[in-house]
Amino acid sequence: MDIWSHEKRSEVMSRIRSKGTKPEVTLRKALFARGFRYRVNVKTLPGKPDIVLPRYKTVIFVHGCFWHGHPGCKYAYTPKSNTEFWINKISGNRERDAVVKRELEESGWKVIIVWECEIRHNKDIANLITRLEKEIKTHNS
Ligand SMILES: [Zn+2]
Repeated sequence: MDIWSHEKRSEVMSRIRSKGTKPEVTLRKALFARGFRYRVNVKTLPGKPDIVLPRYKTVIFVHGCFWHGHPGCKYAYTPKSNTEFWINKISGNRERDAVVKRELEESGWKVIIVWECEIRHNKDIANLITRLEKEIKTHNS
């Protein structure tokens, strides 16, 4: 039995499906404010990068610390139940991330990984953007 009405269900599903997770949107806005123009979720590139800066031949992935196993990060904990499942799941994600990064780099893209914990607090954003700006603009392709 369906606990939700049709409308409610499609509303819930669209919220789950929507690509713009909050940290990603925050980062996009900050980049835009610094004059960067980008495309999002480019499906033709390996790994569907979250942010693509065609002019600088640079892609940015915003990685969730938990799902992508951010090393040494407090948000990248291992759940106490189904531990083995989670370890396999997250190491699988990490392996795929590495493959995607290599594929992109081999076709001349610069790959920048931003972790969600770096965008968590507004006060961190300015520093992050300054760092990214340097990284993006020093890429010569
Ligand atoms: Zn983290």
